[in-house]
Amino acid sequence: MTRRQVLALVALVPLQAHSAERVRVGKTHFRVERGTATGAHAQVGRRYLHIHGNETTARVVLAKHVARRSGVAVFVEESTRTISVDGLIIDPNRMFSRVGAEASLRRLNPRIREAALSRALARLERELPALLRVVLPPAGGLLISIHNNSQGYNIQQEIPLSEQHHLPVPDEPNNFFLATDERDYVTLARGPFNAVLQMNPAGPDDGSLSRLCALRGIRYVNLEAILGAAERQHEMLVWLDDALPALYGK
Ligand SMILES: [Zn+2]
Repeated sequence: MTRRQVLALVALVPLQAHSAERVRVGKTHFRVERGTATGAHAQVGRRYLHIHGNETTARVVLAKHVARRSGVAVFVEESTRTISVDGLIIDPNRMFSRVGAEASLRRLNPRIREAALSRALARLERELPALLRVVLPPAGGLLISIHNNSQGYNIQQEIPLSEQHHLPVPDEPNNFFLATDERDYVTLARGPFNAVLQMNPAGPDDGSLSRLCALRGIRYVNLEAILGAAERQHEMLVWLDDALPALYGK
C-alpha cells in the first residue's frame, strides 16, 4: 500500500464511524438516533421526534434525554421551522396528509403554480413512508413529539378542541402535554403538569402528526414548553417517560 493509499484509508475511517442514519424529505435530512440504555431505562417501543428546527430548546432537551434512554429519536436537521420540498416551503408538522400538505404549501408559498404544487405533493408521497417507518412506534408503543412555543400559543387554544383537560399549573399555560390515547391521559391527569386529551380532533385534517396518530389509533403525546425553559421541559420529559408504560397489552 502506498503512503497516499494509507492516508486515504485513515481519512475514511472516522467518517464511517460517525455516519449517522438519516432519512431525507425534500432537501431536509432527519437524523435517527437509537438509544442503547438497558435495565430500568430500556423502553421498548418508544419513539421521540424533534420536527421544528427553530425550536432549539426542545432539540437540546431531547438530545440530553435520549442519550440516557433506549428507543429511537428522530431530529430534523434544520434551523428553520419550515423545510424545502422542490423549491417550496412547508411546515413539516403539516405534511402528514395530502390535504394538510396542500393547505400548508398554498399558505406558505402564496404565488404557487399548480404544476409545482403537484410535483411537491408527489415527492412527499414518495418520501414520507421512509420517515414514518422510523417515527411511528410498533403496535402499542408511544410516540413523544417535543415542541417549543412562545407568546400566542398555549393550552387555552387547545382546551376547546379537547375531550378533557387537566390544569394543575394555570400560571404555566405554555407548558403542557397533548395526548391522543385515553389511557395515557388518565395517567397524565393524575400528574403535576397541564394536559389535554384529543382523541377525535375537530375540523379539517391539518396534516399534523397528532392527527395522523389519532386516526390510526397510535399512542401519541405532544410535549409543549415555552422556548428557553430547558430545565422545566426536561423535567416534564423525564416525568412523562417514567409515568407512561412502554406498551399496553391487548
Ligand atoms: Zn413545534
